[in-house]
Amino acid sequence: LENNPFPLRILRASRRAAVAGAVLVLAASSLWAKGRAPAARFTVQPSTVTAGRTLAVWLETPDAVKAATLVFQKAEARFFPMAENRWRALIGISSLESPGPKTAQAVVQGRRGKPARRAVSFSVQAGTYPVSHVHLTPEKERLLELMERDGEVLAKIYRKPGISEKLWSGTFILPATGVVSSVFGARRSYTGRNWLSPHSGTDIANSTGTPVVAPGRGRVVYRDRLESFGNVVMLDHGHGVFSYYLHMLEISAKKGDLVDKGAPLGLMGQEGVATGPHVHWSLAVAGERVDPLEWTVTEFP
Ligand SMILES: [Zn+2]
Repeated sequence: LENNPFPLRILRASRRAAVAGAVLVLAASSLWAKGRAPAARFTVQPSTVTAGRTLAVWLETPDAVKAATLVFQKAEARFFPMAENRWRALIGISSLESPGPKTAQAVVQGRRGKPARRAVSFSVQAGTYPVSHVHLTPEKERLLELMERDGEVLAKIYRKPGISEKLWSGTFILPATGVVSSVFGARRSYTGRNWLSPHSGTDIANSTGTPVVAPGRGRVVYRDRLESFGNVVMLDHGHGVFSYYLHMLEISAKKGDLVDKGAPLGLMGQEGVATGPHVHWSLAVAGERVDPLEWTVTEFP
């Protein structure tokens, strides 16, 4: 404007027009910014997931994101920032999930304005799970009811969003030495019942008193005795990932402790409903139990 060659009158008129125009442009652009949903691109890993395993969903966006969630079946997972413009959500796929194409619903909320709502597609393939038949005596029928009740105590914790910080790094280690005496997802049919109940974890058997350790870094969020499970420890590893350990003889970890990979949690036992000394290891991702052994071979960075 310092070197404006135009006569004053023309300048005044054009300035009025320019100011009016600028106000219009500002109003329009702020309306646009307020109403615009963030741009979002999704990739799933793996594109075909086996029922009973973990699915990673990556979100790429050039826009500022306040929060993003992913809903699949009853589970809701949160996206966490992993790198510049890159977010990730982990969801557990039930071992009972039917094979075929699936859709999860993502909601990405920017700093302001409307959220972006997108369908995220992936495929589920069937897992191979052994079937075993369990004969229940009337006394054990009662124990089965106790297991449902005690399972709810634990579910109330691992269905929560938990710690936002990712505490683990690398692959998980086994929580105990021993042999796998029952795999995750093994179908158990009970006498007089027409449903198959999948085993919700991996059983590792060894002698009583074998140390049980944390398979990855985590915070102790539960340590107590439950009638059907014996002594129980649960860890929150962050990003919606929880693990828990049942039937322990004794617990050494304290509630609130931050334990490193390999740190002692307690000793293997056969407390509660168990036919021999073993540790039952469950892993829940966004509230759904998945195969913990996958985490010992596949890194979820
Ligand atoms: Zn078990």
